[in-house]
Amino acid sequence: MPDSVLKTAPSRPLTAGIEALKRDLNGKVVLPHDAAYESARKIWNGMVDKRPAVIVRCLHTSDVVRAVHFARDSGLPLSVRGGGHNIAGNATCDDGIVIDLSQMKAATVNPGLHRATIGGGATLADLDAATQAHGLATPVGINSTTGIGGLTLGGGFGWLSRKHGLTIDNLESAEVVTASGSVVQASATEHPDLFWAIRGGGGNFGIVTRFEFRLHPVGPQVLSGLIVYPLWEGKSVLRQYREFMAQAPEELQVWCVLRKAPPLPFLPQEAHGKDIIALAVCYAGDPAKGEPLVAPLRKFGPVVGAHLGVQPYTAWQQAFDPLLGAGARNYWKSHNFSALDDGLFDTVIHYAANMPSPQCEIFLGALGGAAARPATTSTAYAQRDAQFTMNVHGRWDDPADDVRGIRWARDLFAASAPFANGGVYVNFMTADEGDRVRSAYGPNYDRLVRVKRQYDPANLFRLNQNISPA
Ligand SMILES: Cc1cc2nc3c(=O)[nH]c(=O)nc-3n(C[C@H](O)[C@H](O)[C@H](O)COP(=O)(O)OP(=O)(O)OC[C@H]3O[C@@H](n4cnc5c(N)ncnc54)[C@H](O)[C@@H]3O)c2cc1C
Repeated sequence: MPDSVLKTAPSRPLTAGIEALKRDLNGKVVLPHDAAYESARKIWNGMVDKRPAVIVRCLHTSDVVRAVHFARDSGLPLSVRGGGHNIAGNATCDDGIVIDLSQMKAATVNPGLHRATIGGGATLADLDAATQAHGLATPVGINSTTGIGGLTLGGGFGWLSRKHGLTIDNLESAEVVTASGSVVQASATEHPDLFWAIRGGGGNFGIVTRFEFRLHPVGPQVLSGLIVYPLWEGKSVLRQYREFMAQAPEELQVWCVLRKAPPLPFLPQEAHGKDIIALAVCYAGDPAKGEPLVAPLRKFGPVVGAHLGVQPYTAWQQAFDPLLGAGARNYWKSHNFSALDDGLFDTVIHYAANMPSPQCEIFLGALGGAAARPATTSTAYAQRDAQFTMNVHGRWDDPADDVRGIRWARDLFAASAPFANGGVYVNFMTADEGDRVRSAYGPNYDRLVRVKRQYDPANLFRLNQNISPA
């Protein structure tokens, strides 16, 4: 059906299909004339402004099955929305169907077995809240409003990953609705090819309605926080950071954030808005043992301010939420690194000193440890040799800043490319980077195509970083 048809009114067969869908569904259908439509169509990245024809808010797996049949029969483009956080905006589409999982958040924890199951539309906050009630956790990302769905399917890493691996390394099984509308369990023993593919291959292979994770004792109090240095000390701080991480135990995770100082209460007022480099620290072990280990991080130079202490793991998981709220305009670029070069330090410091907006930031995240141990081909995620990842957050509010902001992110990306290893994390890729999908999957790409042909030969699930079956 041509898009233009839907810009005026839905066709008669589509209207009849929607009415039948409404009758069958436990959840709700949201249409452009409904009051809930404006909020339902919005996703985290305010730069993405799409108007789907139909939003299907599912409550149960049976709703997802019904919605998949509806989408397939309609021939319209199909998006799947988990947490709606992905920078590329694939959780929504123009004039198509959105299968919205955001109401599917039910979590159960078996503390004895160290296992949790959670719905495919839950956020990291939902999972952390359920597991931390038992002093348990699985590694996820650093912004609690992110969806567990997209994060897990792309790989997933955060404060616990050097110790406990990627999110996918802790995935025990998943319930998947395939393009044919079948509900299958994927695990090491059931549909093992599918299980391999969904651990990094994104939403290409089906809709995950339930994840089962292995858990580890974590906290519930962890030693964590920020140590802030002036950007003019940046090169020295980054060099010492490199040396420090080479020796750091896997319980200890430190990321660097270059940005303008936000008005945080522990920073002197005169530092607010000034260029800084912050060390974000989390020790995922006994805090008393962590204290002497983090002490050197306070001595990299003249500290602008520090707020590092023992706090609930769930609070630390939400610490970056205020800086990464929904609705701003975002354009990101990312590289992976096998090692950090002095030339990269010069480059990021130069661009950090010339940010186009006070919300922009450059994240340098450490990986390695348990995240690097599995063989590259053991899961679809192929970036096991990445010791560090850089995420350039171009971020601002005013559309008039788009050109300047995007240029800044792209120029930094180009200037830092000589120091990168050519790989990229699929979850940090923007909408205009389809040509990087092969480098994201490296030696796993051909096997992913074979699994795609088996589970989604018509490419129903194509609004993602697409692995084409063709
Ligand atoms: C502020 C911010 C911080 C981040 N920090 C981290 C971090 O620390 N670590 C990290 O690893 N990543 C991080 N990310 C990246 C994040 O992992 C991706 O953006 C991820 O895709 C978000 O998942 P989502 O479900 O919220 O997104 P959505 O936009 O809803 O979905 C992303 C993709 O996954 C598909 N999808 C989502 N759920 C399902 C499902 N249940 N079944 C099938 N397909 C599904 C969608 O169709 C879409 O193609 C961050 C992103 C943001 C915006």
